[in-house]
Amino acid sequence: MVPRYSYTGPIDHTIAPNLANAKGKSVIITGGANGMGETMVRAFSAAGAFVTFADLHPRGDDLAKELNADGEKTAFVKCNICDWDSLITVFETAKAKSPHHSVDIVIANAGISRSSGDSLWNLDDPNGPPTKPNLNIVRVNMDGTFYTWKLAVHYFRQQPDSADRDRCFIMTGSMVAYIDSPGNWEYTATKYALRGFMKTVRRSSWEQGIRINYVAPCWIKSAIRTKEYEAWLIEHGIEFGEQADCAGAMMRIACDKTVNGRSLMITPRTVAKEGFVDVDKEDYSEPRDEYFIKKQATQLRIIEDKWLDDYKTGSRAETVNAIYSHIIRSHLSNFTRVFWRIKAICSLDEDVVSSTPVPLRYPLDLESFIRLIGTSGYVGSTIPNVRPQAANMTMMTTHIPVPSSMFAWRKHKGCPDPVWEEVPVPTTPPRGFLVKLLASGVCHSDHSLLTNEKQRPWFQDKWTLGHEGCGEIVQIGCDAKEAGFQVGDRIATIAVPGCGLDDCPECSRDLAQLCERAHHAGIGQDGFYAPYAALDIRAVVRVPDGIPSAVAAVATDAVKTSYHAITRRAEVKAHETVFLFGLGGLGFNALQIVLHIGARVIVSDIRQERLDEAARFGVPQQDLVPPGKSIQDFVRENGLQGKIDTTLDFVGTDQTFQDAQNIVRRGGKLLCVGTLNEENRIDMKIGIQKRLSIIFTYGGQLRDLKEVLDLISKGVIQPQVETAGLKDFPRILKELCDGQIKARVALLYETS
Ligand SMILES: [Zn+2]
Ligand SMILES: [Zn+2]
Repeated sequence: MVPRYSYTGPIDHTIAPNLANAKGKSVIITGGANGMGETMVRAFSAAGAFVTFADLHPRGDDLAKELNADGEKTAFVKCNICDWDSLITVFETAKAKSPHHSVDIVIANAGISRSSGDSLWNLDDPNGPPTKPNLNIVRVNMDGTFYTWKLAVHYFRQQPDSADRDRCFIMTGSMVAYIDSPGNWEYTATKYALRGFMKTVRRSSWEQGIRINYVAPCWIKSAIRTKEYEAWLIEHGIEFGEQADCAGAMMRIACDKTVNGRSLMITPRTVAKEGFVDVDKEDYSEPRDEYFIKKQATQLRIIEDKWLDDYKTGSRAETVNAIYSHIIRSHLSNFTRVFWRIKAICSLDEDVVSSTPVPLRYPLDLESFIRLIGTSGYVGSTIPNVRPQAANMTMMTTHIPVPSSMFAWRKHKGCPDPVWEEVPVPTTPPRGFLVKLLASGVCHSDHSLLTNEKQRPWFQDKWTLGHEGCGEIVQIGCDAKEAGFQVGDRIATIAVPGCGLDDCPECSRDLAQLCERAHHAGIGQDGFYAPYAALDIRAVVRVPDGIPSAVAAVATDAVKTSYHAITRRAEVKAHETVFLFGLGGLGFNALQIVLHIGARVIVSDIRQERLDEAARFGVPQQDLVPPGKSIQDFVRENGLQGKIDTTLDFVGTDQTFQDAQNIVRRGGKLLCVGTLNEENRIDMKIGIQKRLSIIFTYGGQLRDLKEVLDLISKGVIQPQVETAGLKDFPRILKELCDGQIKARVALLYETS
């Protein structure tokens, strides 16, 4: 039994192999007549294993004779590993002659190096005809090793997967798979290839009780080299490993069944006194490799192939799995659709199925589905092989595979910190889409959503945060097929799209953003800090090409809210003069919108660098209020009294609210967006005598988002966005609350 491969750190090379575990084992070693291979043959033989070794070199006969002097402990088979039939003889010999008629350990050691000529490296006369390379090194090192693997698997599976047997495959690789070795083209390619082969195989071989490992020798002392050449190499800084340590590394792996999916390198004994260590470069575990760690995790999630006999054999079970999977994916909601799907996939006879209708409802369960298939008489004894987990297998190439669960940042009632939690991937709504998120904006309101427990009626006890999403459609609901969207379309989202119904007190008055009936993504109900989200048709807008997903994500809230506020609530016009308080994320977007409208805008912010940024966007110096300067003094000294038509308050402190009432002209408007103070004072005398309008704004609507994306794609608005990873959410939120973030942050999801 070999457990599923997972990285648990390098193996401890200092543990001496328990040679007793080699006793009685049947070991095959290719390339065993000379050098490292010979050392391995001798070591396993000395430990009491039965060794069958293969080599082209006839010297193997002498070696076998020597080792068999006191009883047959080895067998030599003259063999070219590229010759399939003679390689079969090697395995048959091992099985016939070994004490337990088994094959336990296979060391694919044979290979050739550049000394036999690298056919890619040779330069032809450019004026003559090109020479077709023979790729000999590739043929021997790759084909030969793959043949050896194929036969190893075959013979391993002939014996029980029991405690006294083993299914151990080891390849001799090379350090050139880790360091660059100039001029060594074919050889390097093959040794990298075998290293890669080990990595892909280790993810599945355990399912057959097989373990696979890689051993990478460095420069090894060898009788083939002359003493002079060896001296010259040492002079040039080469440190040699010992042949015996190659055998030692093989023995360490062979005698310890827990070693699987590792690469050991042979080192000079000055590096490790055992002469080998775990390379420890086959897995990612460093923070700088976070991207690769994530990629690896998704790869393992989406590829669910099993290396098992009853899997993917073209059987009925496979077909049933495929259909079931497809139905789960498509969320077909009634029997008719299920039937048509079955018919399409299986070519079932219509009469048979319709005469035995088992009522199926989404969500469809496996039992009732099997009952349906079973009553149709099409599936017999293979049904018990249907494993529910295989329902996730991705047979349907027209579908983007979707996992069944995912990790998300969630709000738990009573808990002020976000919870990183595994939840099911949502199902595709009939009138909407399943969307794979690409980016999601972090918003100040995430903080109050987490910390404020007095929430609105639709709030659930546990829900996924994130209300600013941009993603890609992966599935389309059955009633959304005509909506004009395709799988793969990139869309931006409206967190609160509204129900849109005539009898809705809000939607019927064009206040969809206040609708209490429809979903509130990331505001008390599941939102976008997760890899997938379910969205209604009303909640999505296609993102024009050229707008980065991070920008589209923040556009959905920070820009859309500003746009709605400026254009639909304050109704700022080109001939007006407005006063803008606050150049945070929303404020800066508002500035660009006002500049686009063409109004004069006086700007105040306590941060000089934000004012400098405003100047870069075209605000004249005289319209920037220096930090620390009294607003009312500034207005008086600059002759702006009675000239400010509208104040745009993106701060919302008592101070800004007081200033706004004082500086705005008679009949003017006060637009309130920011809420830094929960309560602010109205001066009733000023309000009445100047006949002011105080205007609040909240969110925005689909048409706002459409217009905003259009303006962004034309370059009119350039939202300022920084990016981070989904996992960084708590840190980003803290930095946002601590004022360390200039504008807006979008969390990026991996794309694949
Ligand atoms: Zn927000
Ligand atoms: Zn509504």
